[in-house]
Amino acid sequence: MATKIPAAMARLYKNVFVCKNCSSKMRADARKIAEGTAKCRKCGGKKFRPISKK
Ligand SMILES: [Zn+2]
Repeated sequence: MATKIPAAMARLYKNVFVCKNCSSKMRADARKIAEGTAKCRKCGGKKFRPISKK
């Protein structure tokens, strides 16, 4: 159920990443993801991918 408004989608998916280990969504600073300091609160993994990627 994606939003039709691009601006709203950008806001929704900005800084939201998906854990590569357990696929849980997580909002985090993009800088933290790049630095590897972001941590999944479910599995503690540090690998993420952007949510908007298909
Ligand atoms: Zn995880």
